[in-house]
Amino acid sequence: MPPPPCSHRPATRYFFYAWLTNLCLFPWAFCKLFPTTYWREFFGKLCLAPIIIVAGGTTETKLGQWTTNKKLIGVLSYMHGGHGLTPSRASFVAQAVATHHMKGGAWYPIGGPVSIVMAACEVIRKNGGLVLTNSEVTRLLFDDEHDVGKHAIKIRSGKCWGVVVNGHEMYAPRVISDVGIRNTFLKLVPERHRHRLGPIVKRLKHFDGIAIGTESYVLEKSKDGSFDVSDAKEAKEDGYNVVQLKKFGVGPSTCTVELHAGFHEGMEELGLGAENRWVFPSWDHDENHKRFKKKFTNDISSCFITCCKKDESWDKRWPGRSAVKVVCAVEYEWFADYQNLKAEDRPFEYQKFKDMWGERLVKVLEGQYPQLKGKVKTWSVHSPLDRNDRFGVARGEVGGVEHTVERYLKYHAEFSPRTDIDGLWLTGKDVSCGVGVAASVWGGMLCVFSISKQRMMEFALACF
Ligand SMILES: Cc1cc2nc3c(=O)[nH]c(=O)nc-3n(C[C@H](O)[C@H](O)[C@H](O)COP(=O)(O)OP(=O)(O)OC[C@H]3O[C@@H](n4cnc5c(N)ncnc54)[C@H](O)[C@@H]3O)c2cc1C
Repeated sequence: MPPPPCSHRPATRYFFYAWLTNLCLFPWAFCKLFPTTYWREFFGKLCLAPIIIVAGGTTETKLGQWTTNKKLIGVLSYMHGGHGLTPSRASFVAQAVATHHMKGGAWYPIGGPVSIVMAACEVIRKNGGLVLTNSEVTRLLFDDEHDVGKHAIKIRSGKCWGVVVNGHEMYAPRVISDVGIRNTFLKLVPERHRHRLGPIVKRLKHFDGIAIGTESYVLEKSKDGSFDVSDAKEAKEDGYNVVQLKKFGVGPSTCTVELHAGFHEGMEELGLGAENRWVFPSWDHDENHKRFKKKFTNDISSCFITCCKKDESWDKRWPGRSAVKVVCAVEYEWFADYQNLKAEDRPFEYQKFKDMWGERLVKVLEGQYPQLKGKVKTWSVHSPLDRNDRFGVARGEVGGVEHTVERYLKYHAEFSPRTDIDGLWLTGKDVSCGVGVAASVWGGMLCVFSISKQRMMEFALACF
């Protein structure tokens, strides 16, 4: 249902524009289906015009057109934690998609997220596929390799035609990667083929720094080894050697620390509801973030609390037990000293540092739900480095590539399912828009449509 017609009330306008942005996503998505980056850029000028008019710019600039009320801007953009960028940096597109998606409430899979995975595996198996778990793809195979053995072909075009997984070569007519554009292009595609992917590779590489406003910087040294910077000028005065990079706009998204807390009481006893809660020190998200980024001991800029009650089957599966998760966005640099060590080799200080975060997040939880005070029976903390270890990401990022204006509107053509390497396709959140499972599903659909026009027609007919 479309929202009521646009009025002068900023909040009404905001929801109207969120709805309109979602409509404009259709030509935006359609443009991703053109076969090469050149054609996507060419048609992009036309396809992107509506979304640039409706949702060009950041959340802050867009909301600033309708109101000067800082608190209202803070309230309307409260969901920025979902995509991880504060209003001054986030594309309004990402904000609008999240807002429209969550309007009227959200859904939670019965049995938890694993039920989505199990259902997907079932479909793959039914169709003759094979699902391997705990199996890392270490590289992609190309038909110009010397060691192709019996698969050698006469004409070698540089086509991607397989993967190396668990040390075994597996061949396929198409390789579809869901491990994210950064992982695929910077880790799995061998160096000698990367130039074929175009300028996106350079843009993705420019992440080894910090973003300040819309500029990014590399910090080469600090006075005392700590990370304590609010802007480049201050950083220079503080003794950092600041090297300005080209504005990248397509760095990794935010990273987080996650607390998983367990209770030996049922949810009713603890008075927990099926709810999510965002906790901010104030409604000025940018200011909160700036302050927190300066020193990790400052107030946490945003925390997300969610509880197991959302899963209807929880009580049956875990009677008399409850679980709560608390997530807070952090700076990767705070953990970077330990990034090159294997998990088992990380020193005691690292564990202590993680525990410190756990205790802080327990405090945040108890502050929000005083009835939980002293009742946390067990907890574990996951740092950005744990995410690197488990999900193969480079900087603990939780949402793929960051959700900037550049990603959605400037470099749009490069974030598409079809890559400039024959046989290599991308799917998942990075080729889609916004964050979350819905974004991944859209990424999957775009990838299917891009491969098979017949499937696209079937889908279009089914919709009507
Ligand atoms: C703490 C947290 C809470 C969230 N809450 C929600 C929520 O409430 N609602 C919502 O909709 N979304 C939520 N999300 C986001 C959602 O989980 C993601 O958007 C979604 O899972 C992305 O799906 P994807 O398929 O694109 O990528 P992923 O789910 O990241 O899948 C990529 C997979 O590739 C694997 N991989 C990486 N490298 C390799 C390799 N070399 N070889 C083999 N495998 C590899 C990874 O292990 C991973 O399993 C949350 C995310 C986090 C981190």
